[in-house]
Amino acid sequence: MTTKGKHDCSGQVPKSMGFGRRGCWKNATIERDGKWYCRQHDPEEVKRRREEYNRAWDEKYRAEKDAREAKVARARLVRQRSRQAIEALRRIVMNRIVIGDDEWSLLASIDAERILDDLEN
Ligand SMILES: [Zn+2]
Repeated sequence: MTTKGKHDCSGQVPKSMGFGRRGCWKNATIERDGKWYCRQHDPEEVKRRREEYNRAWDEKYRAEKDAREAKVARARLVRQRSRQAIEALRRIVMNRIVIGDDEWSLLASIDAERILDDLEN
């Protein structure tokens, strides 16, 4: 409850030079449990700011964690698909599976063989 009259803020602020804290010099306008506070040091406001800060930090942390996990999952998928693609190429080359009886298929098969050779060396 706010009443007329001047009150000193019960909040503490860091000393501008050196260590320690001293009383806040602002005029208090808010009363909580018999003590007076300025807007900045109002315990309800301090609590609200701290909760907001924690919430923002949690969100940031969760977003970063999700991004890291998505990146790991993506890398795992790429590795898995790469192994499958290599295996598919190997079957094509080893079994001489020719999709079409044309020069493009022959060249593709030669390319595939070179790629497999590079990977094995
Ligand atoms: Zn204050």
